[in-house]
Amino acid sequence: MNEINETNEINETNEINEMNETNETNEKKGGIMHKKLFIPGPTEVRDGVLKEMSVPMIGHRSKEFSDLMLSVVPKIQKILYTNNFIIISTSSGTGLMEAASRNTIKKKALHTVCGAFSKRWAQISKANGKDVDTIETEWGKAITPEMIDEKLKTGEYDTLFLTHNETSTGIMNPIEEISEVVKKYPDVVFCVDAVSSMAGVKIETDKLGVDVLLASVQKAFALPPGLAIAAVSEKALKRAEEVENRGYYFDFLTFKKYWDKKNQTPTTPSISHIHTLNYQLDKILNQEGIENRFKRHLEMAEYTRKWAKEKFELFPDERYLSITLTTVKNNRGISVADLNKELAKRGATISNGYGDLKEKTFRIAHMGDLTLDEIKWLLSQIDEIIK
Ligand SMILES: *Cc1c(COP(=O)(O)O)cnc(C)c1O
Repeated sequence: MNEINETNEINETNEINEMNETNETNEKKGGIMHKKLFIPGPTEVRDGVLKEMSVPMIGHRSKEFSDLMLSVVPKIQKILYTNNFIIISTSSGTGLMEAASRNTIKKKALHTVCGAFSKRWAQISKANGKDVDTIETEWGKAITPEMIDEKLKTGEYDTLFLTHNETSTGIMNPIEEISEVVKKYPDVVFCVDAVSSMAGVKIETDKLGVDVLLASVQKAFALPPGLAIAAVSEKALKRAEEVENRGYYFDFLTFKKYWDKKNQTPTTPSISHIHTLNYQLDKILNQEGIENRFKRHLEMAEYTRKWAKEKFELFPDERYLSITLTTVKNNRGISVADLNKELAKRGATISNGYGDLKEKTFRIAHMGDLTLDEIKWLLSQIDEIIK
């Protein structure tokens, strides 16, 4: 019964999308055959957004630019549920991960490692000469509040690093429960990588007491890559004042100084990106509505998980599934590379498993501006290919 309904639903969607989406998608754009991106970044960028990237330039020391920043920042604060200082950085997310390491670790860092991106952050702190300890879990498992409590209660650490959504495995760590534990340690600066969850999942920064929350815009914001965002608390800024060798490009205090003086950035930013971000934030807040955006992400996740459980298996611990991407366990031993080749002909692309998980898993991202109909279309294409 269930299966029949599912099939009908997919076929229906398939027909609609065949006309509306696929043909359009497979068009040649800018000399390349466009494949719709169902990968966890960069995500699919809508034509209207792309167009905004090409508006005429303004000077970064002009009043127009200050006005642009004054328009963008409160919208970001709204989406992040915060009154904290907002940094807009012309870099990828990794740049702000380095910024967090450099600006907040004074004594010793506790890094929580549950996949490739959280591992990268620990490496970044080490590469900056910081004293680092790690908690490590098997890939596909989550970081729990108990693990963190046990380490923090030693009093050795002044910083905690958490990857909210571990994109390499499809785990979403329980940030709310973790934040309850972190609140017991007011001297610890809490840094969170929300690169692949910010703007797709509700993160109540101030309520959770996150001191540095960062992301890049090519994931759930659905913008072209090249810009990153962070919300930085008073506590994190105070810490930065006590930390030596914060570097130059990513010094939190320099960002703060330029913001306080003129609502500008320390160096020439990607103005096109900031303009486009402003456009996209208006769409998120006024057109779609932020709650609707979160709801859409959850609906896409639930649909994809259900499909994955029927056709394959889920890879991560089911108690901590990501809402922005699904990592499927390739228990049928299909060739993921061949699947992607076939998908390419139909105008779509998904991600193979990360690192050692290549071919053992594959990842379907349902983040950014993608719709449930597009996810249904994608999954019906996969069904056709692997049947
Ligand atoms: C993509 C990703 C990063 C890296 O972001 P860049 O913008 O490529 O530097 C870091 N952390 C997570 C969780 C990611 O998904």
